[in-house]
Parts: sequence; structure tokens; C-alpha cells
Amino acid sequence: MSSTTYVIRHAQVLGGEPADLVLRDGVIAEVTAGGAASADGATEIDATGLVALPGLVDLHTHLREPGREDAETVESGSRAAAAGGFTAVFAMANTDPVADTAGTVEQVWRLGHEAGLVDVQPVGAVTLGLGGQQLAELGAMATSAAQVRVFSDDGKCVHDAVIMRRALEYVKAFDGVVAQHAQEPRLT
Ligand SMILES: [Zn+2]
Repeated sequence: MSSTTYVIRHAQVLGGEPADLVLRDGVIAEVTAGGAASADGATEIDATGLVALPGLVDLHTHLREPGREDAETVESGSRAAAAGGFTAVFAMANTDPVADTAGTVEQVWRLGHEAGLVDVQPVGAVTLGLGGQQLAELGAMATSAAQVRVFSDDGKCVHDAVIMRRALEYVKAFDGVVAQHAQEPRLT
């Protein structure tokens, strides 16, 4: 088993002057400007010419699982995210079945946990089946293991102002957010 200490050499932290970063057990333990960090038994990574940033968060991904595993899975999407510097992704609800119940969001959350590469945060549907007619189980998704806080009918607009109002009032109770697919169906 290799060391759990990494030394990242000559990285421009937030685009600043090059420095060495020492990571121990997944935590930044030391930042040394000018490159003098010791590296006994550590894995060294040369980051000359590269910029070190905090992990990026993608608020709008389609991991396609469940239902379209031929296109993407939680695991393959996690790998792509991690390769691009993302540490968290929000997975949209237009899967098959739609992520409109505690069971489905927990399934996506659990698959992300098992992949173990980035935080996979399921986005819950606002309405049942993205149908725009009836509120989905917002509260049950919020209190599930996935602890959903972002809801969206992405791909479809919540076009009924009364339903949108109910959703906005409902998510207030647990500090949730409704992300609208901003499109007026009578015009588009
Ligand atoms: Zn989308």
C-alpha cells in the first residue's frame, strides 16, 4: 500500500506564485512557498505550470442512472467529474424512473457513495414524473439518506404558478432550493 502523503510541487495556488502542497490523509497539511517541503516516503506530483483550486462543484449534471446506463452511470459520471477537478456533482432528476421519491434519490446517492470519487448529490423532481401537475415527495426526499436540498424539473418547466408557489413554500421548511428550467411552454 502506498503512502497516504502526497507532495504536489510547484502548483500555483489560486493562480498565485508556485508553492508545494503537502497532503496527509486527504487534508492539506502544509503549503510551502518556494518549494522546500520535505517528502519522506511521499508520492510526489509535479504540478509545474498548473493551478491549484478548491474542488469544483457542478450544479447541473445528467448521470442518467437509473434507466439510461447505456449513456452514463453514476460511476462513469463520477470518474469524468473527478478527472475534471470536480469534487461534487448534482445529478438531475430526469432519470427512468424519475427521481421524485425518497427511494430513487437514495439509490442515486448510494451509487455515488459506492463509486467513492466525488460527492453525488441527487436533485429531486419538483413534480411527480416531471409532469407539472402534482408536487413530488419533496419532504420525504429532504429527510431521506440523500438529504435532497435542490429540486428541479430540469428539461421541463414548472409552468403552473400555483404549483411553483407551493414548491417554494414547501422547501423553505428545510432551506431547499427550486431550480427552474426557465421556459414558457406556450411560447416555446
Ligand atoms: Zn439539464
